[in-house]
Amino acid sequence: MADLALALNLGSSSLKFRAAPAGDPGAEAASGRIERIGSDGANLKITARGATETREIAVGTHEDAVRIAAEALTGALPDARVTAVGHRIVHGGPDFTRPTEIDAQVLSRLEELVPLAPLHLPAGIAGIKGAGRAFATARQIACFDTAFHAEKPWVNDAYALPQSFYDEGIRRYGFHGISCQSIARTLRTEGYPLDNRRVAIAHLGNGASVTGVLNGRGHASSMGFSTIDGLAMGTRSGRIDPGVLFYLLDRGMTQARIEDLLYRKSGLLGLSGLSNDMRDLLASDDPAAARAVEYFVARAVEEIARLAAAMGGLDTVVFCGGIGENATRIRDRIAAGLTFLPGQGDGVEILTRETREEEEILRAVAELCGHS
Ligand code: ADP
Repeated sequence: MADLALALNLGSSSLKFRAAPAGDPGAEAASGRIERIGSDGANLKITARGATETREIAVGTHEDAVRIAAEALTGALPDARVTAVGHRIVHGGPDFTRPTEIDAQVLSRLEELVPLAPLHLPAGIAGIKGAGRAFATARQIACFDTAFHAEKPWVNDAYALPQSFYDEGIRRYGFHGISCQSIARTLRTEGYPLDNRRVAIAHLGNGASVTGVLNGRGHASSMGFSTIDGLAMGTRSGRIDPGVLFYLLDRGMTQARIEDLLYRKSGLLGLSGLSNDMRDLLASDDPAAARAVEYFVARAVEEIARLAAAMGGLDTVVFCGGIGENATRIRDRIAAGLTFLPGQGDGVEILTRETREEEEILRAVAELCGHS
């Protein structure tokens, strides 16, 4: 019976998973995704042993999604046994700054952190519980998106509030850290020097952020306390003056509706009135679609330039994520906006690399479980 490690990446309505032989995190035994969790038309796709299967499923909750993925995996690889499960956990709060084996104490600490990330942590916690049921004997490892940023300087970690708010955990955490870790690993593997380099990793997917990486470590981020800040995203507003929120509260909008507005109705969707999907906007001849794209590009240029200032200059931009990896027109427009920045040689170097978050989780699992 082959031992497998499994990486689970739960988003608000999707689950991506990837299994590898224990101790060989770069190899793929199976991979797949479940989309539209909690909605009609949910579907499962799984690839194992060279065969891909896609089918419609009914999936109400994140825990259900993990159970269904586990059953699909066991169905596709009946002779395999999952001995370790790695979880993408969006927020580790001030405490969790490296991959951590999950026990009852860690789980209860994660539950205490939910107020810091009420829209993201519950999915991760549900994934842990679901995996605990589906793979009762497996070790479980949490990998945190905030961890890559844990060593940034104080000036990029704090807000200008009284100290007690910082102590309470109101900090600029930064996110997409597992993606940054994956990109940094890829560059190192290619022999690309990260020491003495000032790199901006632009993770442009449905969620989008830019991370300034100095000497291979997270130095500053376009995201801060929450995943709203910085760039405009598929449905999130990105940076907004807090004065707007006071105004909306004042005119009677509830906190829940403001949250819905900023997380689910803004960004590319809000600006275009058409779609949160960059492909749709690039294919449209509606002027509102063009404006949404223009705003996306402008904020990306601005945030990268801000990180350049924070790092004392910029040598390289690495694009990744669905938009970063595929939308040449968007990359070119952002790069054109950065030509004013001097870089080494001919200006700022522009790279595109595939981010492999699930593989990165599997590497952390292998390290923690002593397989590498
Ligand atoms: P998630 O953050 O949900 O993992 P992805 O990283 O898959 O999202 O990114 C999704 C975004 O990537 C969508 O806006 C989609 O339109 C965009 N995208 C994917 N392929 C292309 C493409 N060929 N051209 C332009 N945009 C693309």
